[in-house]
Amino acid sequence: MSALPIASVTAVVCPAWCNVTQGTHLRELRWEGRALHWSDVRTGEGWEIRHATATDADGHRVDTEPQVYVTTDGGLTLAGAEALALTLLATYEEATG
Ligand SMILES: [Zn+2]
Repeated sequence: MSALPIASVTAVVCPAWCNVTQGTHLRELRWEGRALHWSDVRTGEGWEIRHATATDADGHRVDTEPQVYVTTDGGLTLAGAEALALTLLATYEEATG
């Protein structure tokens, strides 16, 4: 647990890949007790991927394992599937790094 009361937190430590604003994180901390860091969405033909990790204000992971979200429109071309596979691996490596 953080030594500081949540009300006194003025900034959240983010992973380098996080694209969420500090204002959103501070609201999340106040209402939910943790910040949810979202990566940029990576998109290709018929698919998109992003990942998220929940932390406390100090950037320590809380609650759940990091999650990777993959959305597809249905069938992918072979080229689209290859791009999805490569991007998914890069996303995985970013999420575990
Ligand atoms: Zn963040």
